Amino acid sequence: MAALVLIVFITNRITESGLDLTNIIVLAILIPIIAILMVSTLIKPGKCLPQLGLVCPVCSMPLVGLASQAIIITGNCGSCGSRVL
Ligand SMILES: [Zn+2]
Repeated sequence: MAALVLIVFITNRITESGLDLTNIIVLAILIPIIAILMVSTLIKPGKCLPQLGLVCPVCSMPLVGLASQAIIITGNCGSCGSRVL
C-alpha cells in the first residue's frame, strides 16, 4: 500500500514538473551513482587523506578534525609534535 502511494506521488510529481522519459532515466541512473559515491566517501574518509596530503609526514596521523586545531595554533602535528606547517 505504501509503495503504491509512493508511486502515485512520484508519478504525479513527474507529470506536474514536465519531465520526459529521458530525464527520468538519466535521473534514475545518476542519483544512485551519486548516492553510492557519497556513502563510500563517508564510510572510508581516511582513505583519500594521504592523496590529499592531509596526514603527518612523520607519524601518518590524519591532520583533520580536532588535530587541525592544534596544527592551526602551533603549526605542529598534534600527535608527534613535528612541524607540519
Ligand atoms: Zn605527526
